[in-house]
Amino acid sequence: MKQTILGILGGGQLGRMSALAAARLGIAVHIFTPEEDSPASFVAAKTVVADYKDENALKDFAAGVDIITYEFENIPLETLTFLKRLRPVFPDVSLLEVSQNRIDEKTFLNKIGISTTRWSVIQSSTDVKAALVNWNADACILKTVRFGYDGKGQSKVRMNDDIDSIRNGLSGEILIAEEIVDFDCEISMIIARNSQSKTETYGPMLNEHRNHILHKTTVPSGLPADLCQRAVDIVTKLAENIDLIGVLTLEMFVTKNGLLLANEIAPRTHNSGHWSIDACACSQFENHVRAVCNLPLGSTERHSDAEMLNLIGDDILKMPEYMAQANACPHHYGKDDIREGRKMGHVTFLKPRKAQQN
Ligand code: AMP
Repeated sequence: MKQTILGILGGGQLGRMSALAAARLGIAVHIFTPEEDSPASFVAAKTVVADYKDENALKDFAAGVDIITYEFENIPLETLTFLKRLRPVFPDVSLLEVSQNRIDEKTFLNKIGISTTRWSVIQSSTDVKAALVNWNADACILKTVRFGYDGKGQSKVRMNDDIDSIRNGLSGEILIAEEIVDFDCEISMIIARNSQSKTETYGPMLNEHRNHILHKTTVPSGLPADLCQRAVDIVTKLAENIDLIGVLTLEMFVTKNGLLLANEIAPRTHNSGHWSIDACACSQFENHVRAVCNLPLGSTERHSDAEMLNLIGDDILKMPEYMAQANACPHHYGKDDIREGRKMGHVTFLKPRKAQQN
């Protein structure tokens, strides 16, 4: 039987962990990335290092694989559209399109009945002031429409601030303003869906950020059962409406009065699901590979409760300490350069599963 070869666009840690999961299923991975010595390249059968717009390189890459997926959202849409003519690409380019643009994302979410915080398109400082008056708010968050991540491309503004200089600092011509959510906590849901419309979900996960970067994820979240069920229903609705094949993540706020507001879609596996490698029979990465390769999905049930800590920058130096801990499962992404704010690895701490907890 010919071995399936999965092509992954992007060479980061998500691609690396997907390639490791694919290997367990007897699937080889080829990586396409503009970056030399990327984390995924060290565990892949082959890596093509080229620009995402290099059509000859893309053609060669497609010729060598059976199916194509992507591991991060900032890939040009044209790259996927080009590849789609040559090989099946999952998830579909429409998901990437929606998640690359905050206006499209929120419009789509609201259209299918998923609530977000109130938001407004901003083209001038007058628009910001109008939004603040409209929401009867002292402040709001301005965000770039595209390419924001880990808190980059956003800024809090107040009525009396120099709004134009803040807008210029964000370097986006069109921005969006969002009402500030007075949230109780932040959660995420991950869903895998295959071509037979079968779904499996992870979460909700309880997420804690530091300096806008995910610091800690805890499962179970400890939230009430009805709220957890609502989170599952919301992400399932999203996956069905987008006709997902693969994995996506939805980040949400839990407001002080128990509402769930969608914040952001990640069209891929997610940092808040890394614990699933060690605490579930089938991880988010394996379910992603299974979904895009048209294989049956695996169970997402936890055999252990878990807490995942990101190892950012120097934190990676604590690896030997974690290795000595019986309940700790450390993961190193194989990045040589330690840089402040760089995700270098993570560690999942396992605990016996408490029954009946969400
Ligand atoms: P984002 O890039 O949209 O995922 O935002 C990064 C982080 O900023 C979120 O995880 C929240 O902690 C915070 N944040 C973003 N938008 C809002 C909002 N509208 N209200 C309150 N906090 C927010």
